[in-house]
Parts: sequence; structure tokens; C-alpha cells
Amino acid sequence: MTESHETQQEIWLSASCERQIAEHLFLGLPYEVCGILRGSATARCMRSETFVPMRNAAPDPLHRFILHPEDWTRECLQGDGLIGLFHSHPHSDPVPSAQDLQQLPLFAGMLSVYLIGSPGSEDHNVQLNGYNIIKGTDGNYTLQACRIMHD
Ligand SMILES: [Zn+2]
Repeated sequence: MTESHETQQEIWLSASCERQIAEHLFLGLPYEVCGILRGSATARCMRSETFVPMRNAAPDPLHRFILHPEDWTRECLQGDGLIGLFHSHPHSDPVPSAQDLQQLPLFAGMLSVYLIGSPGSEDHNVQLNGYNIIKGTDGNYTLQACRIMHD
């Protein structure tokens, strides 16, 4: 087993959080949707309790997302508990795109959880990938794959 497997973190998702993500993803089709995750995150444990949908302000929402500035500001002012970001890939696998990585520094300093979801093969089933946002020694942010845990 490699070191990265041993240290792979877990992201716990509440059942309601998963349901809210799935609803938002399917209601938004064929466009990309986005939102933020509230919960708690420490070096050892990340736990998302609530999903808060946000408007996608991208001029081309079929292929990209931009958190609506009003929605984002409102959530930032809500205080503690803002831990992560979700967006969907309606037409591709739920893995970070080059554009996603490019956008990362915009909010990476405030968040530790990064989720991407795609429509699954069955009705209203979401294929979900989770990543931990890590700041490297070079000051750049990267995404490290995590295990998603359900309760
Ligand atoms: Zn993306």
C-alpha cells in the first residue's frame, strides 16, 4: 500500500446533503450546477451536513460554472461552517477539469472539500467524487482524492 492510500482522507456526507445535491444536479440539467457545503472540517475529519444551492453565473453554463457573486457573498457572511464546494459535470466524468484547477485559487483558501457529481447510469443516481483541497509548499493548490462516506 502506498503512503497516499494510507493517508487518504474521508469525507462524510449526511443523507440530506446527498439528496439535496442529487436534486439540484438533476433539476439543473443540461447545465452545470454549483453550490456550497456546510459542516465541519478538521485535519482528520471532514463532514458535510448541508448543501446550499447557488446560481451558476457562467455565461456558458453548459460547460462551466461560476458561483453567483451575490450567493457566494451571502454564504460567506453566514459565519463558520463553510467547508466546501460542489459542482456538476452533466456531460463528462466527475473529475476535475483543467478549468476547475485554474479556478481553484479563487476560493481554495477558505474551503477544504471539493465535490464533483455526474448523472449516474440509473435514474437520479449521482456519481460523486470527493477531493481535499491542499495547499502545496509552492503555494499552489491541488486536489487530492478522498473517500466519500455515507451515513
Ligand atoms: Zn468542473
